[in-house]
Amino acid sequence: VIEMGQAEHAVITTCAYCGVGCAFKAEMKGEEVVRMVPWKDGKANRGHSCVKGRFAWGYATHQDRMLKPMIRKRISDPWREVSWDEAIAYAASEIRRIQGAYGRDSVGGITSSRCTNEETYLVQKLVRAAFGTNNVDTCARVCHSPTGYGLKTTLGESAGTQTFDSVMHTDVVIVMGANPSAAHPVFASRLKRRLRQGAKLIVIDPRRIELVDSPHIKADFHLPVRPGTNTALLTSMAHVIATEGLVDAAFVAQRCETQAFQQWRDFVSLAENSPEAMEAVTGVPAHDVRGAARLFATQGNGAIYYGLGVTEHSQGSTTVMAIANLAMATGNIGREGVGVNPLRGQNNVQGSCDMGSFPHELPGYRHISDDAVRAQFDQAWGVRLQPEPGLRLPNMFDAALGGSFKGLYCQGEDIVQSDPNTQHVAAALAAMECVIVQDIFLNETAKYAHVFLPGSSFLEKDGTFTNAERRISRVRRVMAPKAGMADWEVTCALSNALGYPMNYAHPGEIMDEIARLTPTFAGVSFRKIDELGGSVQWPCNADAPDGTPTMHVDEFVRGKGRFMITKYVPSDERSTRKYPLLLTTGRILSQYNVGAQTRRTPNVLWHGEDLLEIHPQDAEDRGIRSGDLVAVQSRAGETALRAEVTERVQPGVLYTTFHFPESGANVVTTDSTDWATDCPEYKVTAVQARKVAEP
Ligand code: SF4
Repeated sequence: VIEMGQAEHAVITTCAYCGVGCAFKAEMKGEEVVRMVPWKDGKANRGHSCVKGRFAWGYATHQDRMLKPMIRKRISDPWREVSWDEAIAYAASEIRRIQGAYGRDSVGGITSSRCTNEETYLVQKLVRAAFGTNNVDTCARVCHSPTGYGLKTTLGESAGTQTFDSVMHTDVVIVMGANPSAAHPVFASRLKRRLRQGAKLIVIDPRRIELVDSPHIKADFHLPVRPGTNTALLTSMAHVIATEGLVDAAFVAQRCETQAFQQWRDFVSLAENSPEAMEAVTGVPAHDVRGAARLFATQGNGAIYYGLGVTEHSQGSTTVMAIANLAMATGNIGREGVGVNPLRGQNNVQGSCDMGSFPHELPGYRHISDDAVRAQFDQAWGVRLQPEPGLRLPNMFDAALGGSFKGLYCQGEDIVQSDPNTQHVAAALAAMECVIVQDIFLNETAKYAHVFLPGSSFLEKDGTFTNAERRISRVRRVMAPKAGMADWEVTCALSNALGYPMNYAHPGEIMDEIARLTPTFAGVSFRKIDELGGSVQWPCNADAPDGTPTMHVDEFVRGKGRFMITKYVPSDERSTRKYPLLLTTGRILSQYNVGAQTRRTPNVLWHGEDLLEIHPQDAEDRGIRSGDLVAVQSRAGETALRAEVTERVQPGVLYTTFHFPESGANVVTTDSTDWATDCPEYKVTAVQARKVAEP
């Protein structure tokens, strides 16, 4: 806490929106926030912020905040407000009743990337130690799980390789499947500064995002890849690099597995993988692919930044591996200005994955089947963990509809609005006997809940978030939890009611436990973070006591880098006679994800609706003009969106956002998923569109 002039005091904390993780000074009068000021010493933002972090915090005191625990026997019953003790006791008794009737694995839990590392760690501990099952997953399942799989397989660690500052040493940047200007604005500002200094830019995106031709910046190449063909495009770029002698042979010989590299080189060199052969698949002119590949391989330091337009595909994990291949082949790993940089959507996606929220991994990405690792946790937690991975989120839904999964604890995640194929998710929840929702609002998922536990906003939290550059930043409590209990205290209370003791005096003690059990966090503590100025990048341990800004410097975490074969496999979501258009999704600057927070800010100018971008040619074919209401139908469902006719999208492609529940973009997204991780294929849905009303 520091003293202020105008306000009575101020608290340094971390923004709870995107994966940039900006540090803010919350200026306070008593228990009331009067202003959020970007903190000049924040290492992720260096005094900058965007409109969301600076102005969209009013939701914390919005009238929709739910402050009382509630229970009901059936979802058709009215809610009944109860005490915390009664709600916790009821939730615990229902979990045990269900397990008694249907077996230990008939229940599970979902952690959230909105929550702190400490809260997330406790939820997976609750599920594993108190529920006794590995049926735990995180909302990262539906965004960056392919990043975890792809980077672990190729480089050895499920995380980005650089700091944000690193971009200031970059000579050529690939931005793929990401729109930083809207989704990661503070990073976008830094990137633009570097581009204005002369760095080259290659944008790979089906849509003409702002970076393609923003004021003072023009991309050297825009490769408008057809949705669903990312792997084909990157493999054709690799073809150029391998066949034109552009591989960094010294780097590959010293740093990478020889046999895997040779197999990769032979594969990408096949004529069928040339840009000319792939042009019909990707829709990108071959000469542009060749030009972009040559630019990336020869310009100097090359860095790749990517987002959900890479991961949320049936080949999301393959595309992440293709990105890692490209970085290794050109020697762009292990120093400033290069690297593979996933731009994480939510504030703590990285952290929720680090904390062992996946059904197959304990904290620090260690597989649950590893006897030695499990023994360490068995001893620390006083339990015997199950060695088999549990159910992933979509598998929980399937098991619920099959009758074997009956109870769910869902902390801080609105799965009905955010997960694909809304009807499927809703039916699965309706089939369960006890759904426990912990959230700050009575969200769409709570319509199917039997227990509602009021959650805390980020202003009421104490703990840490981990941003896209592995930076663990302190989140400090600005005001007392409005519902009387912090989220971590609620999880502890539920665990205690289940008969598994879980007691901590402060979230700092939870981090101490994480550090004892997680080698990459061994040196992390609240005290250490404070000593280092408010944040530290993991790994932070005896080898790296002050953290690790750049990874894989002398060798890869896995030893030698591993090239992977990235064969293009067409998505099931292809345009057909019935569904001739491909719908893809994204975000706008002023809204955040499902909009639960940003829609509840006082600034009415931000309120609006999701729009459907449609190319003039497709619009004319259907008699659609801007402002018309358009029905969009897929094999999963139908929704209606207002049209915006624009050349930002290419012919055959539609684009919308998913910030408003009324338009329900996820009503039409399907249950097609990434082959390796089950991450939904949000970015490609075959649809038809027809006008239903004029403005
Ligand atoms: Fe920073 Fe992202 Fe928050 Fe904007 S939304 S202030 S870029 S962390």
